[in-house]
Amino acid sequence: MNKATIVIVVVAAAMNSMASAQESNASEAAIVRESAGYTATLLRQPRCAAVFGEGAADTLRSAEFRFVPMGKPKVRLDGTVVVVAAVTLREFRLILINRDGPFLQPQMTGNRIGGLGVDFRFGLQPHAYRALLLLHELGHLMGKFKPDASDSELATEYTNLVRKGCF
Ligand SMILES: [Zn+2]
Repeated sequence: MNKATIVIVVVAAAMNSMASAQESNASEAAIVRESAGYTATLLRQPRCAAVFGEGAADTLRSAEFRFVPMGKPKVRLDGTVVVVAAVTLREFRLILINRDGPFLQPQMTGNRIGGLGVDFRFGLQPHAYRALLLLHELGHLMGKFKPDASDSELATEYTNLVRKGCF
C-alpha cells in the first residue's frame, strides 16, 4: 500500500467523524445537560455528597463535557465485555464521554462468549445510569478516585461506591 492512499483514507475518516459530530452535537449536549442536572439533585443527598467531599456540586457545574469516539464494546479473551464509558482529564476539568459507549446508549448490551447477555447498566433506568457514569467521573475530577483506565477492577470498585452512596 502506498502512503498517499493511507493519508486520503485517514482524512476522509476524520471528515466523516466531524460531520457526524456536528449532526449530533445538539442532542448530545441536551442529554448531558439533563444528566448533569439530575446528577446535581442526587448530590444534594448528604450520603451521596459524602462520597466526593466538599465542593462536589461546584466541581460538577464547572466541568466541561465533550463527546469523543472511543470504541464500541469488545469481548476479551476471558469472555467479559468491556467498553469505555468516559474518561476524565482532571487538569483540564474535562470529562470525555465515549460517543460509541453506553452513556448515549444505556440500553447497550454486549454478548459474552456462550451467549450470556451483559448489561452495563446494573438494572438502572437510563437517566439514573447516566448520572452514575457522571458521578463516577466526578470522583476522578475531585481527585477522590485514582486513575483506573487500565484497571477495570478498580473502576468497578469506584462505581460500586457511587451506587451504594447515591442510589
Ligand atoms: Zn474511573
